[in-house]
Amino acid sequence: MSVPGAFELATASRIVFGAGRVRELPAIVAGRRTLLVTGRRGSPIPIPAVHHVRVDGEPTVEDARRAAAHTGIEIVVAIGGGSALDLGKAAAALIANGGDPLRYLEIVGDGQPLPRPSLPCIAIPTTAGTGSEVTRNAVLGSREHGVKASLRSPHMLPAVALVDPELTYDLPPSLTASTGLDALTQLIEPFVSAKANAFVDAICRDAIPRVIAALPRAVAGDRAARGDMAYASLCGGLALANAGLGAVHGFAGPIGGRFPAPHGAICAVLLPHVVAVNAARTGDPKFAELAAMTGDLAAFVAQFGLPPLSAYGVSAADVPALVAQARQASSMKANPIALADDELADILTRAL
Ligand SMILES: [Zn+2]
Repeated sequence: MSVPGAFELATASRIVFGAGRVRELPAIVAGRRTLLVTGRRGSPIPIPAVHHVRVDGEPTVEDARRAAAHTGIEIVVAIGGGSALDLGKAAAALIANGGDPLRYLEIVGDGQPLPRPSLPCIAIPTTAGTGSEVTRNAVLGSREHGVKASLRSPHMLPAVALVDPELTYDLPPSLTASTGLDALTQLIEPFVSAKANAFVDAICRDAIPRVIAALPRAVAGDRAARGDMAYASLCGGLALANAGLGAVHGFAGPIGGRFPAPHGAICAVLLPHVVAVNAARTGDPKFAELAAMTGDLAAFVAQFGLPPLSAYGVSAADVPALVAQARQASSMKANPIALADDELADILTRAL
């Protein structure tokens, strides 16, 4: 075993994990003027707030403008899936910094750095997949540009990541599967990434086998398995925030920006093809280690019956433009090898 190389870790200031721990929220908020950000269904627990913003589906630049228009706010509580967490993080950053989201947005905006720290943000996931509670970016869709891009800054790490598996007990099977496969992707891509480090390797080695064992049981409603998935999702967020992602997420932004496919479903159908191409092109022994942890990855993903990309309207005619967009995505830079256009096109075509 080699000596760990140098690394630096970025994460939420405080991470709280455990069943029932969401009941500590009132003490954490401590009576401060709160902006509550949730999904369409609101908060599963009562949270006193001065203002409440709901997001329906994945957040857009317009949603971020609307959320950031609130004044007199001291703290943001974001509770929900990755969409609510990302919008809460964006609002906390934009309220503290002022200005339009496009000033700071990557790819389609000016990409300027956020000069000031965000308002404190308490991020509480109710799905087990995105890990957004410990990442430093928020993905926003731009309808105008037909793409999804990130607000990204060390200032966007939440003050508190509060992960309570009880909040995931009622997730329907299809959402459990697609978000769980996003978690798996967010463990596998950092593990083999060009930016991997010893800490990320350690949490991925623990969490990848947990997902393989737990996800089928979590989809069937098993509560202990849901606890494993909530933990694995948190690990995935820690891993991607510190080692980047890869070609699966490089594609997920452009595809999700143009087609109405859930992020986790896109990742799930691309994952086995990206891993196969990367494994064939590199001599990295980590791919053999990964294969030992996952078994037949294509068969594992297939058991959840997620539809191919063509079900969302992606066709062969879209491949060249999506490949060109994916090449520009920040996630693509962390892929273990630089993939050629024909390799990227082949991966995408196999997932149609
Ligand atoms: Zn993802």
